[in-house]
Amino acid sequence: MDAVLARAWVAGIASAVRDRADELTRLDAAIGDGDHGVNLRRGFDAVVAALEAAETPAAGDVLVKTGTTLVSKVGGASGPLYGSAFRAMGKALRQESSVARALEAALEAVQKLGKAAPGDKTMVDALAPAVEAYSAASDDAARAARAAAAAAADGMRATIPLQARKGRASYLGARSVGHQDPGATSTALIFAALAAVTGPDSGR
Ligand code: ADP
Ligand code: MG
Repeated sequence: MDAVLARAWVAGIASAVRDRADELTRLDAAIGDGDHGVNLRRGFDAVVAALEAAETPAAGDVLVKTGTTLVSKVGGASGPLYGSAFRAMGKALRQESSVARALEAALEAVQKLGKAAPGDKTMVDALAPAVEAYSAASDDAARAARAAAAAAADGMRATIPLQARKGRASYLGARSVGHQDPGATSTALIFAALAAVTGPDSGR
């Protein structure tokens, strides 16, 4: 992944978040406090502005800048979680070029901070299978990104019957069952944006 691709990915996320902010907010209104779409829109609008003003020679610089901006601009649980994910991914890409390794670092960062496991009805339910699917196909970046996007979407849908064990939705107990997790939904959107910009040679 180079800086041009990383910027295209982040721009794609920002645009999808703008288009789907109301949907994300509606999902969060059902089992949280109804701010997920607003949070992410504010965050990614700030990221777009920050990247316009920034020199980012490498993909790692783009993603670290993205993460740092999200941490400072997005309140709630998702800001620090997505912020650390992008920062970890960026830092990993500064060390070695493997996108698969960088995604693994992002998952690690989210789980270290949020302590959620798969099945807890959080963004981890989309992120963990996406990272695994990417790694399994990583010699072809375009195929890997498509597999990751499909796995994230499956993981997102699989949150519907789950009872939340982390985050605000967990306060609802059994009443969180039957609703799709907003964070898993935004994670699926992030991987769909990655698949949309990734060509066959982008992973190296
Ligand atoms: P808040 O819950 O503080 O209002 P958001 O609405 O922006 O923050 O984000 C909610 C999403 O954050 C949830 O749908 C869930 O996917 C994710 N989330 C919450 N807590 C955790 C956690 N401990 N680990 C992973 N993801 C979490
Ligand atoms: Mg919320």
